[in-house]
Formats: sequence, structure tokens, C-alpha cells
Amino acid sequence: MAHSDAQALAAWRLAAEPFYQPTGDEVARFQAATAQRLPVLIKGPTGCGKTRFVEHMAWRLGRPLVTVACHEDLSAGDLVGRWLLDAEGTRWQDGPLTLAARHGALCYLDELVEARADATVVIHPLTDTRRMLPLAQRDEVVPAHPDFQLVVSYNPSPLAREMKTSTRQRFCALEFGYPAPEREAGIVARESGLDIGRSAAIVAFGVRTRRLQGQGLDEGASTRMLVHAALLVQQGLAVGAACAMAVADALSDEPGVRQALHAALDASF
Ligand code: ADP
Repeated sequence: MAHSDAQALAAWRLAAEPFYQPTGDEVARFQAATAQRLPVLIKGPTGCGKTRFVEHMAWRLGRPLVTVACHEDLSAGDLVGRWLLDAEGTRWQDGPLTLAARHGALCYLDELVEARADATVVIHPLTDTRRMLPLAQRDEVVPAHPDFQLVVSYNPSPLAREMKTSTRQRFCALEFGYPAPEREAGIVARESGLDIGRSAAIVAFGVRTRRLQGQGLDEGASTRMLVHAALLVQQGLAVGAACAMAVADALSDEPGVRQALHAALDASF
């Protein structure tokens, strides 16, 4: 392993256990997929704990975690690597997917459907029994390390792109939603340090916003937003003001929806 690869992987190893509150048997299911080296698709709305879960699983499995936030300009080269030109000539630099496949990391492609089509296709040979990554530009085929596992996330919202069947059918899926209110209050309290009573009140407001989904609102408050509200309360803001700032005013610019959100605020606090 090249020195810089070793450094990169060491940096990707989680030093401490990331707190994750399970909402069902997702830990056991993920472990079953890992044991059989199956790729996993995590579906769910934004901010509901998908990334935190993957971090937690990487820590549990003792594997480095390579995360790539996919976006519309992300190409196959960004994932597999490319030839670079420097003072000494050309040299190959492995991309994050190649590093993970070579050295046995968990590779998390966040919102894979956002990436360009060529980036999506590049994962195909890694996600079937071949478990290998062809580097056409380098004339090399990288066999995946036994500890390599691919995890991708997907938010099936009306605004999101559809995942192609040919990609979708390669994965086992775990469906995530918002945790039950008591659990979510526990998460908000733990993440912010706020007391459980006020955390539960923030969650109750969050649940109200989720009922507005489909009525001009694509998604209600995420757990992430509720944690933000609790952090603002920790700074001395009143609970209602914190929820207005972290949730109601952040969620939508549409006057009708904002009015409905502020009505939910008034009803809650
Ligand atoms: P996403 O689903 O968009 O990947 P994240 O995993 O980043 O969402 O979750 C957003 C935040 O919500 C986290 O940083 C964490 O504070 C909190 N969170 C959500 N669900 C959980 C959970 N089950 N256990 C612990 N924290 C959670």
C-alpha cells in the first residue's frame, strides 16, 4: 500500500463510536448483508439518520469509511481516479471508490442518483458476484478486498431522480423513516444536551410539520432540523423562537406553507 493510501485510510477510521439510536432491527440486517458481502441501499427522507447509521456500522465493523456526497457533476473519474500531471510526469491517483475497493473499506455513496450516469455504471461490476473494479484508463482490474462493502443512500422524494432498475436491482434495501416520537425526543436530547421535556415538545412540533407534507411541503422537519432547534434553545432562545428559526422559516419560502407552519408553531408553543 502506498504511504499516502495508508494515511488516507487511517484518517477514514472512526476514532470514537458515533451515537446511533436504532429504530428497529436495522443493525442486524446490515450485519447480515455485510456477512454475505451484499451491497446495501438505504432509502429515506433527508436528515433521518442514514449517514449516522452508516458511520455507526463502520465503527462496529472496525472498517474505514469512505464517504462521497454525490452531485450532478460527479463523474466516473471522480470515483475511480485519474492520471495527474505533475513535475515528475504523469501519475495515477486512485479515487475514493478504488481506494475503498483495494483496501477493504466501507464505501458510502450518499445520494448516488444525483451522480452522472457514467458514475453509476462504474459501480456495477463491484455489486455483483464479480466484485471487481475495471480501471479502463489504467488497463487494470482491481479485485475488491473481502472487507469492501458498498452502501448507497437514496431519498425517494417526488423531487428526486428515479433510480434506474439496472442499478436498483443490485442492492438489498433498508427503509428508513423518522423515529417514533419518544425515540426521536431521546435522540434530540442526546444530540443537543437539552432536557427530555423540551426535546419532546420540539419533536411534537416536528411531527405536526410532517403532516403538511404533500400540501405544498415536500418533506416536513428532519431530525437534523429538530436537533438544530434544540441547540438554539441551549443558546438561550425560547423553544418557539428556536423552532421558527431552525424549522418553520427554513423549510419553505411559499407564503401559504409558511402560514401553515407558523400556525403549527402557535398551536405547539
Ligand atoms: P441523513 O438521513 O440525511 O443521512 P443524518 O444521518 O445526517 O441524516 O442525520 C441527521 C442528524 O440527525 C444526525 O447528525 C443526528 O444528529 C440525528 N439523528 C437522526 N437519526 C438518528 C439516530 N437514529 N440516532 C442518532 N442520531 C440521529
